[in-house]
Amino acid sequence: MRAQPKASHFIAGAWVEDRAGSAFESIFPATGEVVAQLHAATPAVIDQALAAAADAQHEWAARPPVERGRVLRRAADILRVRNHELSVLETLDTGKPLQETLVADAASGADALEYFAGFAATVTGQTIPLGRDMAYTLREALGVCVGIGAWNYPMQIACWKAAPALAFGNAMVFKPSEVTPLSALALAEILQEAGLPDGLFNVVQGMGEVGAQLVTDPRVAKVSLTGSVPTGRKVYASAAQGIKSATMELGGKSPLIIFDDADLDNAVGAAMLANFYSAGQICSNGTRVFVHRSIKTAFLDKLAARAGAIVLGDPLDEATQMGPLVSDGHLSKVLGYIDQGKAEGARLVCGGARVGSTGCYVQPTVFADVTDEMVIAREEIFGPVMTVLDFDDEADVIARANATEYGLAAGVFTRDIMRGHRVVSQLQAGTCWINAYNLTPVEMPFGGVKASGVGRENGHAALEHYTRIKSVYLGLGDVDAPY
Ligand code: NAD
Repeated sequence: MRAQPKASHFIAGAWVEDRAGSAFESIFPATGEVVAQLHAATPAVIDQALAAAADAQHEWAARPPVERGRVLRRAADILRVRNHELSVLETLDTGKPLQETLVADAASGADALEYFAGFAATVTGQTIPLGRDMAYTLREALGVCVGIGAWNYPMQIACWKAAPALAFGNAMVFKPSEVTPLSALALAEILQEAGLPDGLFNVVQGMGEVGAQLVTDPRVAKVSLTGSVPTGRKVYASAAQGIKSATMELGGKSPLIIFDDADLDNAVGAAMLANFYSAGQICSNGTRVFVHRSIKTAFLDKLAARAGAIVLGDPLDEATQMGPLVSDGHLSKVLGYIDQGKAEGARLVCGGARVGSTGCYVQPTVFADVTDEMVIAREEIFGPVMTVLDFDDEADVIARANATEYGLAAGVFTRDIMRGHRVVSQLQAGTCWINAYNLTPVEMPFGGVKASGVGRENGHAALEHYTRIKSVYLGLGDVDAPY
């Protein structure tokens, strides 16, 4: 069960260790076994990483974009070749079942590297005719970017930040979550093997303080955080203090609205994906499932039957459909919400308890008759806990869906094409699905509104968040000075 990296940090193309940093462990949440032991970055390590990134960035930005793209493309290929070993690593670090990590983690990371590899050479500026004179714009790299990751999709998050940053000529210092430190180090090695010059993708480990030190450093031009809203408030404020560009990918409590004309089997399947995939530890999950009252009983019957058949177990067994939660601390938090749901009077349809006493397993849980005021309908639980709320009227359900500080994602199930678009156009969410849920292909911009974040990852939109525009005015005649 050991997956000990050669050292805690990867800086300027080399493994770096500084035992003066506080020690922490990666734990396999299915058994509690220690997978790896690491040290948090000291100020000296942080300085080394930022200096390496700053040194390497100018030469990288000056390279023909097609060359930068070629390196990323090779990295994508290596990720795919090593998908199995990377998936096992991700499973050990997160507890997510291999059935998922084999298709969703390194695989989506490779897609991001491939997409931005191709994008790099297509970036152009504008020419702006001004009569006798003209202007043009240049798309420039920002410089040194800091990426800070959450623990639920460690490899995907590292790739979603590194791929656009590097494609457009930036350097990155990435700090994975202290809960899941391993796959970012694997990515750093793979990028090096693909030909990325030293210093362009550096990984430093540690808790929030390390992230905070990175964000405040004057060498840093941009910060991209994936994490919770409370962390986002601190990191965004700190970036604002330094007038730095910021992308905030934060939490959510997203609505999934199921109308009475929906294909019921598809709607049930989507609601399950929106709550039970990765044991519910997904930011964009549709955790408030609004079901039209006329189909509520049929919906809940089908849902309970399918949820009860989910296979929980050893995440390294490919037959396992749901693994444990990521940590003991998180297990306690999710169980606390389940207790609160029961105490608040929500009706438990299925699940509602821990499984066994070893490992952080929770049953897939569905609460029905949930009302908007209940805590389980308002706060992000980040576990396999679905809340089902009834509705009768379209305008009313839209207002209720929007009555939250969050705005990450939303979904609508209906066979009425007019209604699908009409409802989505009124939902306050950055990412919406009609008759689907939680599909996040790299081609599609992803991100939130309101407290769920600012900026977008993926798609063409990422260009706006990893480059800046320089305007150049070109005088083609004499200077008309009044002096
Ligand atoms: P978290 O906010 O606790 O930590 C996220 C990262 O921020 C970690 O690396 C942590 O060490 C770092 N951090 C903490 N305090 C910091 C500070 N003051 N300065 C700089 N960095 C700091 O979140 P988590 O528990 O790791 O992840 C779960 C949360 O992430 C959920 O709220 C989930 O919705 C959200 N999330 C959002 C997305 C998205 O794309 N919108 C994706 C995945 C997870």
